[in-house]
Amino acid sequence: MSLIITIAIGLGTTALLWLFFRPPFGKNIVRLNTHQRIVALTYDDGPNPPYTERLLDVLAKHNVKATFFMIGKRIERHPETVNRVIAEGHQIGNHTYSHPLLGFLPPFCVQRQIERTDDLIRQHGIVEEIVFRAPMLTRFLPVAYVLAKDNRTHISCDVWSWDWTTQNPHRITETVLKKTLSSTRAGSIIVLHDGKAENKNANRSGTIEATDRIITALKRDGYQFVRLSDVNKRYSN
Ligand SMILES: [Zn+2]
Repeated sequence: MSLIITIAIGLGTTALLWLFFRPPFGKNIVRLNTHQRIVALTYDDGPNPPYTERLLDVLAKHNVKATFFMIGKRIERHPETVNRVIAEGHQIGNHTYSHPLLGFLPPFCVQRQIERTDDLIRQHGIVEEIVFRAPMLTRFLPVAYVLAKDNRTHISCDVWSWDWTTQNPHRITETVLKKTLSSTRAGSIIVLHDGKAENKNANRSGTIEATDRIITALKRDGYQFVRLSDVNKRYSN
């Protein structure tokens, strides 16, 4: 009898953990729904001058548009950088106000983090739908619940650059290209960082140099680059 109870408790605990960490509802986009050679470059944790500006120079050189998931309190601190990102045709996404481990917060805190940052983005004249990505991709139960309630999608990724662990441009480039090209991942969403959550003065030179190399290599392989707003119009389900 005790064995049955132990098994029941074990199964129940597993089900609850599964429900919390992998909530089976709401929309979570990991990859674009396309067979075309199209990828989305996404940059998290900015704005972070002067590195965001240097990154914009590289993107402009290649005529590539990207999506920037910005932290609300950095939007407040660097409005001119935000304006330049918008003026140059890139998309701005919501990456919470203060970059907490969102998945472990109660829903009202999650809601507040999202709404506060939405408001800041709207103050920059953005009227279209604002895409959202949770810090460290913690789309756990409270996050999934709040997003589903507002019929919003979580934007995840399928290519991790690991640029938060290294600023060696060669290593970042190799990591992204290996994942993207080896499996010919049409529709990949690539995550890079123009800022660093825990360091407001983080040097992102490696990510900038890697971006130059990644775009050059992917273009040579026939890839085009889209913003996530392009995705919604053309490539989502
Ligand atoms: Zn982040």
